[in-house]
Amino acid sequence: MNELPWLRADRVAKLHAALAARILVIDGAMGTMIQRHELQEADYRGERFAEGYDALFAEEGHAHGAGCGCQGHDQRGNNDLLTLTRPDIIRQIHADYLAAGADLVETNTFNSTSVSLADYHLQHLVGELNRESARLAREACDAAEAADPSKPRFVIGVIGPTSRTASLSPDVNRPGFRATSFDQLREAYREAADGLVDGGADVLMVETVFDTLNAKAALFAIDEAFEARGARLPVMVSGTITDASGRTLSGQTAEAFWYSVRHARPLAIGLNCALGAKELRAHVDVLSRAADAFISTHPNAGLPNAFGGYDETPEDMAGDLREFAEAGLLNLVGGCCGTTPEHIAAIAEAVRGLAPRQVPQLEEAA
Ligand SMILES: [Zn+2]
Ligand SMILES: [Zn+2]
Repeated sequence: MNELPWLRADRVAKLHAALAARILVIDGAMGTMIQRHELQEADYRGERFAEGYDALFAEEGHAHGAGCGCQGHDQRGNNDLLTLTRPDIIRQIHADYLAAGADLVETNTFNSTSVSLADYHLQHLVGELNRESARLAREACDAAEAADPSKPRFVIGVIGPTSRTASLSPDVNRPGFRATSFDQLREAYREAADGLVDGGADVLMVETVFDTLNAKAALFAIDEAFEARGARLPVMVSGTITDASGRTLSGQTAEAFWYSVRHARPLAIGLNCALGAKELRAHVDVLSRAADAFISTHPNAGLPNAFGGYDETPEDMAGDLREFAEAGLLNLVGGCCGTTPEHIAAIAEAVRGLAPRQVPQLEEAA
């Protein structure tokens, strides 16, 4: 995969130049911003999904009509569907993060895989959701870049973990059971990756990785998507530490996680979600020493409180992340759950003018 030419060499050159010059800022949470709109079932459904199913899609030979028997499904909470039903909201969220100083914005595709969309009976939408979401983010980035050409803006095509784990059983009584497989995930991720590339993403990011085998399936699928086109995009990988022992759900330390994905030669390796900046500090430090790739981190706004909310203010988070930057740990920084454009503006201000981490030259892996 690493021998393939870049699909959009001019964009990659701009990204590399920006990474060499400064710490780049990634946007904050999409879900937190969507929550502010207090959307109801009808908002999620829009016209096209008014009956809870897709009026534009039917199995071969089926025409929707009175009593046609399609099983409608509640769509409230299906945030990725808003790309189609409330593109105005998603576009505005991207614009707000760009105005706050984000150099890179993430597509609204965290759950846009057939595995996750099956929960809403909309798994046929994978290609469309990924493509349209990348297009929305692309429009927002292009508009911001046109307004200030000295500051290029990049679309990160987000590939989420799905709710399934390929290497662990969800049932403690059946340790050998798996709710998914490498090949099922690979197929699901391939469709998502193709949509994101078609929609104009600059970078793909496999994020919130809690099971390394899922990430490997995603990286394999991305590789296949690039091979099929004869060209590639830069790829970022971001894991999530889920407990106090400092391990991912599938049991790896940050360092082991890096060595498990290093073969893919990602542009950046990082950590996001689950913990706040303070709790991530030691793990980002380990990655920074081990990895000959750029380092990213986009923590939550602290640990979730008793109500599932997040308490860290923009100033709290920006103060912590400024220290990361001063210690030379960061190339890319942003926010995950609970963060808002106010957090991103504070973080952007806090790292402005601080030198990006120098990527160490390590010996080539055999
Ligand atoms: Zn029908
Ligand atoms: Zn998060």
